[in-house]
Amino acid sequence: MLSQRAGRVKPSATLAVDSKAKSMKAKGIDVINFGVGEPDFDTPEYVKEAAIKAIKDGFTKYTPVGGTDELKSAIIEKFSRDNNLNYKLENIIVSCGAKHSLYNISQALLSPGDEVIIPSPYWVSYPDQTLLNDGVPVFVDTFEEDDFMVNPDAIQSAITKKTKALILNYPSNPTGFTYSKEVLEKIGELALRHDFYIISDEVYEYFIYDDTRHISIASLNEEIKSKTIVVNALSKSHAMTGWRIGYAAGPTDIIKAMTSIQSQSTSNPTSIAQKAAVAALKGSHDFTNTMVKEFDKRRKILVEGINAIDGISCKMPKGAFYTFPNVSGIYGKRYGDKQIKSSFDLAMYLLDEANVAMVHGEAFGNDNHVRLSYAISSQDIMKALERIKSAIGNLS
Ligand code: PMP
Ligand code: GLU
Repeated sequence: MLSQRAGRVKPSATLAVDSKAKSMKAKGIDVINFGVGEPDFDTPEYVKEAAIKAIKDGFTKYTPVGGTDELKSAIIEKFSRDNNLNYKLENIIVSCGAKHSLYNISQALLSPGDEVIIPSPYWVSYPDQTLLNDGVPVFVDTFEEDDFMVNPDAIQSAITKKTKALILNYPSNPTGFTYSKEVLEKIGELALRHDFYIISDEVYEYFIYDDTRHISIASLNEEIKSKTIVVNALSKSHAMTGWRIGYAAGPTDIIKAMTSIQSQSTSNPTSIAQKAAVAALKGSHDFTNTMVKEFDKRRKILVEGINAIDGISCKMPKGAFYTFPNVSGIYGKRYGDKQIKSSFDLAMYLLDEANVAMVHGEAFGNDNHVRLSYAISSQDIMKALERIKSAIGNLS
């Protein structure tokens, strides 16, 4: 019999859709994959070279559990340069991806029954990581008509004596929208007044479009910084999803606890990937800028194309590389003896009939939407739009 904990958790929907799409592809089916959020760019050459050098130099042994001082120093420089945040070595931990940093945070902070406020729609792993660590997810809805901006009054109404933390993710996966400075300031005030932590997942900080700016909530003032753990990673910014390097910065006691937990679970992140991460962080920003410019073009092609399909509407996202179209206008339509009643039904129909993969919005807490990642080529986006249009046209 499995543990109660194992019974509480479900597999990551984003990774499940991705593996289904990839296995269809392996069988020779021409699937276009809007499913997983993973840049299609290759890791930059100078990063790969640093990893090769690490192997040749024999940098292939255990490192300190929470990452080398060299990498932590590069992370400290990044925070100071890009976020106006000053940290010391003892405020930083490097983990096996942002997901692992987030998991360590839940392990370090949560006692049974502690509540974690999660604005919804949310990234799939927040509720399950909370549940895995004996916490209680408390969802606060955000709405399409507000560009999914979280409402501080709604956060306030969700606060109880058991509130331990709030997870913010902006720019957001899955909505592609971000939060204003005014809203961040109000949330910061709430955290100080009600004494809870802010876990700020900023993995998409560089993926911002138009006149949008990214402001780390921790940079608003020293008091808010003392209640915030910032999470980031090289996965998206440097197209390094497979290298598994993420990191967190926060109060010394929390980072110390996370490091002890990591010492008893995974030990250090891969030594070679750490050397690659140093090169990535110290290198020029050109690679990321080029990628973001390309994604900006794709964002417009995708949104325009989606809005030309009957029954679907999509707002222009401001960040990350996701669109979150509203597909509820299609619900009730039929194909054969089946009816599309949910985001899951629609995603499955489009995968089977159009060979286009996307993630059902229900996995992110909103069943009226689906999520499409535009980290795929413009040609594929255009081809997929044709297929979706025709498959939806076949519904009656
Ligand atoms: N947070 C968000 C919002 C994400 O979209 C992802 C990507 N899956 C992660 C964290 C995890 O990133 P990593 O691959 O570095 O673990
Ligand atoms: N960020 C990606 C996504 O949401 C990666 C998949 C995952 O880690 O869940 O699709």
